[in-house]
This record gives sequence, structure tokens and C-alpha cells, in this order.
Amino acid sequence: MNNSKYYIVINPEVYISENIKSVFLYNTKTGEYLKSKDLEVVKIVKEINILENLYCCELEKDQIIKNKKIDKFIEELKIKRIGYLIPKKKNTKRPIVLRPVLGLKKRKDGKRFQFDNNYIMNYLLNLTIQINNRCNLDCNICNKAFKQFTCCFTYEEYTDLSITFIKKIVEEVKYSSLNGIKILGGDIFIHSQFNDICDLLKNINREIIFYTNYLNVSEIKCEMIKKIKRHLIILLVNPEFDGNGLNSVLKYLKKNSLNFSLQFITNSEESLENVNKFIDNSSVSNNSISPFLTEENNDFFRKNVFIDKKKIFLTKHKMNEIYSKKVKNQFIFGNIYINSNGEIYSNRFENSFGNIKNFSIREAVYNEINFGGMWTLTRDKVKPCKDCLYELLCPSISSYEMIMMEGNNLNITACSDFDKNSIKRTERSNEKFI
Ligand code: SF4
Ligand code: SF4
Repeated sequence: MNNSKYYIVINPEVYISENIKSVFLYNTKTGEYLKSKDLEVVKIVKEINILENLYCCELEKDQIIKNKKIDKFIEELKIKRIGYLIPKKKNTKRPIVLRPVLGLKKRKDGKRFQFDNNYIMNYLLNLTIQINNRCNLDCNICNKAFKQFTCCFTYEEYTDLSITFIKKIVEEVKYSSLNGIKILGGDIFIHSQFNDICDLLKNINREIIFYTNYLNVSEIKCEMIKKIKRHLIILLVNPEFDGNGLNSVLKYLKKNSLNFSLQFITNSEESLENVNKFIDNSSVSNNSISPFLTEENNDFFRKNVFIDKKKIFLTKHKMNEIYSKKVKNQFIFGNIYINSNGEIYSNRFENSFGNIKNFSIREAVYNEINFGGMWTLTRDKVKPCKDCLYELLCPSISSYEMIMMEGNNLNITACSDFDKNSIKRTERSNEKFI
């Protein structure tokens, strides 16, 4: 019997994922990966993945000779530059690999990560302020689209958020890590203090983005917003848009040298085709497409939006992105929304924290990272993702998935394995920030 030994070593740029029956090793530099369900291979990789073992474990030569799957696994490991084998000789020191480790500690309850409460406002990344909720249009998407992507919306009891409160908000976020502020309505142009709001925001040293439906823009309104020309205006374009009307609006915006981009909303193959035609025939280069989920367009979403396991490997995943998805939802983390009635939200699915009139953004951020849920709603908290090897390669849980999980009886899933009833929603705990 040959009992010589080896060290099997995994490279530091490799991410390892495991579940009960299988293991997955992903090279974040090359995008190559290895997966195994073989009992022996799984046992070896799980041992390698124990924190203290520093991506290394011992292997007997006999193990390799007797189990062809281990032999093949090691061969592939080398070819894909995931790891290597070195003989263990008398004076060979055990290799030390500085494996990736998540910097954040778990809280005492073990359920969540411990964020640094001394720098609360560093977690605020994006702020959306709905300055009013009045609008004279009646779009089909109204009151539904805003849960899926940034979009204007209305609700009963029309209110304009007064400039006094907008000033208070701007003052409060002055020393935060905020990337930018999104301003939307209703129809922002009919806010009774719209001019004053433009004056207030025009010199703010942050990215400010104004959202308006293109149907609410006219030549006169373009004159009104000249003063905010250094900020971006995003024109929301409904699925059933009129190309000539849109071209006229673009003409007014260009004439006034306004900085704008188009956000096309699509809900079907046909609407997507119309958008592509318009883009091909226009000179506008800044545009994006926001798919709009309805109860009838499952197939459109399956084909164009939802992930499947093949799509996961079309892009390379960096180690910092993988680890970040372990801690936070990449789509929601850091977002605060304030509605025109002053109510503060951390997402579009849960109740408000309180009202800006007597509650601060700082308190909202504190509550969200300490007692909330959706900013830190990661795939490892839901079934079947928590048992899936690709849990941290998949994009975070999206607003589309959240809508599907709100019990609207849609039988569609974000991937073939997704279980829409699996998220256990957390109760909002609104403790006071101290
Ligand atoms: S423009 Fe916006 S706020 Fe007005 S009806 Fe359409 S979606 Fe609603
Ligand atoms: S089960 Fe979840 S983690 Fe796995 S591929 Fe599907 S969506 Fe991604």
C-alpha cells in the first residue's frame, strides 16, 4: 500500500459554496468552475472550506488512486486554476492561503450581521423624494410600476410635500454617503412650489435626478426647468408611447440644452420591438429599458428578465460582489423613499417607519439595519435559494420576485427552482433611535 501524502490547496481567488450533497468552486478571476456530488469529493472540499483550514487539507495518495472521481476532480482543479496538489514531505510546511473572509461579524442572535451604528448615515446611499402625488394623466401602469422600478405614482388624498420639509430632508442628508437624490411626482411640474424646489436643489453638490412622464413635458415646462440644467431629467416612456409626441418632447429638451435620458417601460415583445425601432431611428443615446410585470406577461419575463442557471455564468462574478450579496440586497440596500405625505419607507413593500414631520431619516436607517428586513434580504434566507450552490452568484432578490411573492397568484418564478411562498416576511420593528 502506498501511503504518501499530499496537500490539496485552493487558490485565494476561489469562492466555495456547499450544501448537504454537493460542492461548487468558482474561480472569480477566470469565471471557471467545478461542481461535484461525489461523496468523497464533497467531504474533501467541505474540510478545505473550514475557516481554520485556510483552503488546504491533507490527502492520502491511496484516496486518489482508489477513487477515480477524486483523481478527475484534482485534474480539473489544476486545469481550471482553482487549486493544486503538493506532496507532503518531511520538511514541507502546511501551505497557508489567505482565503477570503467576510469582514462583518454576526450579531449575538446569529441571525443578522452587525453593522456599525456609529456611522449610520454611511449606509444611506439613495434617496427618493416624491414631491407631489397629483397628475392629470391616467396611465395603466400607475400605482403598480413604482414598486418595480423608479416611476411616478399617485394615491388618494393629494398632497404636495412642502419646501420646508424638503429643506429639512436636504439638511439631514448633508453629511451622509448619499450617491444621489431622485425627485418624482405625480406630475412634478404642478407642485405649487416647484420653482422654489428647483432653486433649492440647483446648487446641491449631489447627483439630482428628476423623473417625469414624457407626456407631462411641454415647451413651457422645459423653460421652467432650465435652471436645473446641470441635473439629469429622466423621461418615463409608457409601453404604448406615441413616437411623434416623444420626438416633439425631445426637441424641446434639446432646444433648452437640458440633460436628459429616456427610460422606456416595456411589457411585451411587441412593446420591446417598438422601443428598439424608436432607438434605431433616433439620435438619443442615453436610454434604459424597465420591464413592467403584469399578470399576463409571464412568458415575456421568462424570456427577457428572469435568471436561469445558464445565464448566471454568462458574466464573471467578482469576489467582493459575491460577499456583498451575503450581507445585503444589492437592489434595495441603502435606499430611503419619502412620499409626498411625508411617510418614510426603506422599500416599496413594507409599512412606513414614520413621518418626516416627527421622524428622522437617521432613525429610519438605524431601524432598517438593526430591526428591519428588506435591505438585508439575501437569498440565503429564502427557500430554495438557501440550499442552492449559486445563491451568491445569482443577483439579489429583485422587486419583481417580491411582487410575485406578495400572493398575487402568479405562477412564475425567477428561476426554475424558485418557490414564491418561501420568504418569511419580517415584522417591522420601529424602535426609537438613541
Ligand atoms: S404620469 Fe406617472 S403619476 Fe401620472 S398617471 Fe402616469 S404613472 Fe401615474
Ligand atoms: S434557486 Fe435561487 S439561488 Fe438558485 S439559481 Fe434559482 S434563484 Fe438562483
